[in-house]
Amino acid sequence: MKLILLGAPGAGKGTVAKLLTAVDGSVQISTGDILRGAVNAGTDLGKEAQGYMNRGDLVPDSLIMGIMEDRLQEPDCEKGFLLDGFPRTIPQAEELKTLLAKLNIELDMAVEIDVPRDVILDRLCTRRTCANGDCQAIYNVKSNPPKVEGICDKCGSPAIQREDETEEAITHRLETYNEKTAPLIGFYKNEGLLMTVTATSSDDVIAAVKAKLSL
Ligand code: ADP
Ligand code: ZN
Repeated sequence: MKLILLGAPGAGKGTVAKLLTAVDGSVQISTGDILRGAVNAGTDLGKEAQGYMNRGDLVPDSLIMGIMEDRLQEPDCEKGFLLDGFPRTIPQAEELKTLLAKLNIELDMAVEIDVPRDVILDRLCTRRTCANGDCQAIYNVKSNPPKVEGICDKCGSPAIQREDETEEAITHRLETYNEKTAPLIGFYKNEGLLMTVTATSSDDVIAAVKAKLSL
């Protein structure tokens, strides 16, 4: 399947993407994971992105488009992909449309995961992420804590609160979402590609997507 996952930070795009990879072998492409990996590795890209990310601001469109143009041409994308955190602005969506046409790739749909704001806020404050850039497993201190407090089950690295998950940065990320990313819902509606799922359980989102695609 070739999907875009839309939704506010904390809506569960990453969790849904991971679950969908198991359905048909499509790959998850998370621009947030790619950028955090680059920050941890100290690459030029990471150095350029770090300041924006820590403040909860978006990284410039040009940086993101460069990453995605390369990524979408890697062989593992042939089976399908789940775009998680991209596109994030109308210019990114316009450029993606051009890029996909150039690469002869057709999207199935853009899935909007619609979750109430109070649930989102609670999730983001209690989220913990594995600090190992190659793992980045996600936990929640209330609903899905690691077996040993503060330690990733999968790789043993510290599971920490992200620098952009302080209350101040979270508020700013949600404002950025409303201003820059929410307009994509109208964009994909116009393209005839929008599917909205109102569900707080990731399993319910998966079921709705599978039903829609007859999988
Ligand atoms: P979340 O969806 O939980 O906010 P992500 O992991 O998707 O977090 O992104 C973390 C940060 O990485 C964003 O706040 C932003 O700074 C940057 N980022 C990720 N994807 C993009 C994108 N497509 N365009 C611009 N910035 C991005
Ligand atoms: Zn880990």
